[in-house]
Amino acid sequence: MWPWAHAALGYLCYTLYLRGRGRGQPSGWPVVALGVGTQLPDLVDKPLAWYLHVLPYGRTLAHSLLVAAPLVALVWWLAARRNQRATGTAFAVGYLAHLLGDALYGLVTFQWADLGFLLWPLVDPPESEVEGVIAHLSDILESPFVLFGFALTAAMLLLWNHHGRPGLAELGTAVRRRVVPSG
Ligand SMILES: [Zn+2]
Repeated sequence: MWPWAHAALGYLCYTLYLRGRGRGQPSGWPVVALGVGTQLPDLVDKPLAWYLHVLPYGRTLAHSLLVAAPLVALVWWLAARRNQRATGTAFAVGYLAHLLGDALYGLVTFQWADLGFLLWPLVDPPESEVEGVIAHLSDILESPFVLFGFALTAAMLLLWNHHGRPGLAELGTAVRRRVVPSG
């Protein structure tokens, strides 16, 4: 899945989660944390595998449940200690939705070997991989799964807009603080 599709799936999962718990709609900083959670596994594994060659495959360390589960639990615990439980929960939903997104193709096509990354290093990664962003761009118009990602993103943007674009103001504030540090 591409980054925008991961963000979309995360937002849809989070909206459903909040609905299920009767907690209204996504808002503010939790949406920013959700966005970070949806991207983090690829931001860790892809550069380490494709460009630094420290990892054997682009879905290993941060994509493995053996790492993801304690990491998500730790972030949630740290957030809860700061009375930011909603933010910690949003991060967790985003992170786990990323893993679900990467597992989706294997689940719908019954190719269980595709789910092996969830148990790395207990399960070996595939022997070969298309490496690099540019190489992956070549399959962008060939894969129906990529088109599904675009449809998912369009649905998410409509929903996010309907919700009043939560997280956008907070993100703007955070960027401004970085560009123009106070004091
Ligand atoms: Zn991934």
